[in-house]
Amino acid sequence: MVEEGSSQKLNLVEDSFYISLALEEARRAAACKEVPVGAVVVCREKVVGRGRNRRETELDPTAHAEMGALRAASASLQSWRLPECTLYATLEPCVMCVGAMLQARISRLVFGCLDPKGGAVESLYRLCDDGRLNHRILVTRGVLEEECARILQDFFAGLRENKRSGKRAERWPSPAEGA
Ligand SMILES: [Zn+2]
Repeated sequence: MVEEGSSQKLNLVEDSFYISLALEEARRAAACKEVPVGAVVVCREKVVGRGRNRRETELDPTAHAEMGALRAASASLQSWRLPECTLYATLEPCVMCVGAMLQARISRLVFGCLDPKGGAVESLYRLCDDGRLNHRILVTRGVLEEECARILQDFFAGLRENKRSGKRAERWPSPAEGA
């Protein structure tokens, strides 16, 4: 964080608000049986793009939440360059999404929880702060971290539970099958 004192507090309130909007998108993804990740793009305190993971729905490996939010922001601002924008994501973005943010010249990224298996901001790579690239992105992480992690944990716990009950059903053939 570059800000100090009261502006830092203000930022935290604002950041929490926009991450809560990204969480809304993540909940919508979960309702469609998609891994719940959400993102919003904000320009001068205005939400200009929203996105949620839609990989299963679209059968598209690039349909990550951040990509959707960036596409919507570019359409809304009529520009592929988004230098005055901040992207808020519930989960640490992957290589592809940070790549797209760098292409768009996003100025700041705020995210909730880390992705130890795929994160390209801190976990596996540090693409937002790589001197070899022609753009850098300011990063704030850990905003509403627990909520952002919990929605993923709940989703995967639900999947495991479904799998278990599915197996139980397989083990117990119906009377009609005459086991
Ligand atoms: Zn991604």
